[in-house]
Amino acid sequence: MSSTRRPLIAGNWKMNGLVADGKALASGLAAKRNDAGEVAFDMLVCPPFTLVSTIGAVVSGTGISLGAQDCHTAEAGAHTGDISPQMLKDLGCEFAIVGHSERRTDHGETNDLVRAKAEATIAAGIKAVICIGETEAERDAGKTFDIVRTQVQGSVPSNATAVNSVVAYEPVWAIGTGRTPTTDEVQEVHALIRNELAGIVGAEQAEGMRLLYGGSMKPENAKELLALADVDGGLIGGASLKIDDFWAIGECCS
Ligand code: PEP
Repeated sequence: MSSTRRPLIAGNWKMNGLVADGKALASGLAAKRNDAGEVAFDMLVCPPFTLVSTIGAVVSGTGISLGAQDCHTAEAGAHTGDISPQMLKDLGCEFAIVGHSERRTDHGETNDLVRAKAEATIAAGIKAVICIGETEAERDAGKTFDIVRTQVQGSVPSNATAVNSVVAYEPVWAIGTGRTPTTDEVQEVHALIRNELAGIVGAEQAEGMRLLYGGSMKPENAKELLALADVDGGLIGGASLKIDDFWAIGECCS
């Protein structure tokens, strides 16, 4: 955590929640946010598309931001089943996650496509949360740095700025497994990401850009992860579905 970059605590609800569940979760967070007054972090929730509108109404005016988990590259057109960044903006989304490893795996998303999605998101006036991270096999083969470098170079557009983009480092093997890299390993990769970003967006924007860690972050390990010099928040899956846990992670920023 740095004194200049305000931490972002982002919840990725993935494909979870019917209307009542989503409303209860968002209302609980909104109540916590309201009771807390000033806080030292920004909070973001990214529900599934089906709940974006509903949750948008719940968090509107609470200080909690709304985001989506993916988007198409086009503004509109013949793309059955897809959602454009403009549609998300229309519903009040401030952020869209792009290139989550589950999309890279389940839908074959490449760095080129992820970059195109980030560009489309930025063009629509939404902030991109660009996800990268190595698989377990890549880590075991000693390729973490190479993979991360290639993903940053391939997925982050040259017009990304500290304001319109966030990068999330999520080792695939840490997502939903309860396992995490050591804090030294996380810091080392985040420093590498910031260094690579400087080559793409310039040193000043890279210095200001928030880098989130994601992968089994929970209240028990958040404090030490969020204390790292180049960790500026978290992208949180499982623990973001529990009001108390997600809020407790935010409180680790103070
Ligand atoms: C994620 O899906 O982005 C994630 C980090 O999940 P979890 O927190 O459950 O590991």
